[in-house]
Amino acid sequence: MLLGAIGDDFTGSTDLANMLVRGGMRTVQVIGVPGGPAPEADAVVVALKSRTIAAEQAVAQSLAALEWLRSAGCRQFFFKYCSTFDSTDRGNIGPVADALMDVLGVPFTIACPAFPENGRTVYRGHLFVGDLLLSESGMKDHPLTPMGDANLVRVLQRQSRNKVGLVREDAVRHGPGAVEERFAVLEREGVGIAIVDAVSDADLHAIGHACAGLPLVTGGSGVAVGLPENFRREGLLRHAEHAAELPRVDGLSAVLSGSCSTATNGQVAEWLRTRPGFKLDPLRLAKGDDLAGEALAWARELIAANAVLIYATSQPEEVARVQASLGAEPAGHLVEACLARVAGGLVESGVRRLVVAGGETSGAVVSALGVKALRIGPQIDPGVPWTVSVGGAPLALALKSGNFGGQDFFAKALAMLDPGQP
Ligand code: ADP
Repeated sequence: MLLGAIGDDFTGSTDLANMLVRGGMRTVQVIGVPGGPAPEADAVVVALKSRTIAAEQAVAQSLAALEWLRSAGCRQFFFKYCSTFDSTDRGNIGPVADALMDVLGVPFTIACPAFPENGRTVYRGHLFVGDLLLSESGMKDHPLTPMGDANLVRVLQRQSRNKVGLVREDAVRHGPGAVEERFAVLEREGVGIAIVDAVSDADLHAIGHACAGLPLVTGGSGVAVGLPENFRREGLLRHAEHAAELPRVDGLSAVLSGSCSTATNGQVAEWLRTRPGFKLDPLRLAKGDDLAGEALAWARELIAANAVLIYATSQPEEVARVQASLGAEPAGHLVEACLARVAGGLVESGVRRLVVAGGETSGAVVSALGVKALRIGPQIDPGVPWTVSVGGAPLALALKSGNFGGQDFFAKALAMLDPGQP
């Protein structure tokens, strides 16, 4: 085991795992801190749900994950958070980074959320989302982690006991040697955590290279792009060309969708043009109707011949009507619970390949199916890989958060499992 990562949410962890696989590392994502031994892999990502919980709990969970990763023999550790630095003045990025540094006994690490490919760049310590400063982007109104300050040195300093410094783009541009020199200068000045500027993929590769000697790296999935190369340089990545290979999983296929994002609405509409779908009505769920049973009976008639879609995905006006009547949270839970029951019933009927749309929906489905770990495979669309469950009867799972994936995502994902067929 080379790299041990701790992710502060589920789909962000998958995004990091996908990045590591693309870099040639065989990667497994585990859901929460596992009880048992580590799986066979070059990298493991422990997916927590610690982004918006109380800082003390986030620290405790992250340290438990660290202890498990250390016992697995990892050589380097990575703390993954969102590329928009989602946090508040109370945490959780600063407190978790501080605690990981204390336990690992490291005096210096970096914090780099930049992901230029997705429009997240850091310049002179300021985070941009596309052309906007973070504090002028949609993130300023986020319900849980509103980001009102784009100066990450200031933002992190309010959360961290460590002195926070900056490695500027004019150093990063000169490559890994210049970055390492800056690390050394900052460390001598008593800086514990350095925000690092990055405006291009070349910057991320230079930063990744310069981090080869750091026991702990923190950042978004972007900065991880340079890490596999460090292990390759040391001759430690032996299975790189097979990193994205998954065991073949045969069985029936289905798509479950609980996301109501613009992208998912488009994907559902595209599927329904030519293929069968069953729509779940949350108002009927609230009346106690057995919609899971109805959906399963419908699916069993068709599924031997066709992959089916079962969905609650709706346009914003319809979601607003349902939420006005039931409340947003209760409506969400009803739909999640129903889709989770449908998932269980489909698997009992022989479904082995599942595409799931929605972050919370994926969490509910994975937990209902008792899935504890996922081996990460080839990318379907940016940020979304195929995965196969580890332990128990294998299931192929494509778990897509809200706005990811192209219009034909569902059919494209399923077609990837049977290459060469029309
Ligand atoms: P995303 O990744 O797009 O945010 P999530 O699954 O995380 O998707 O969140 C979508 C939420 O909306 C879930 O809690 C889901 O149960 C809920 N939901 C789905 N369909 C409806 C609907 N028709 N009305 C109200 N809520 C819905």
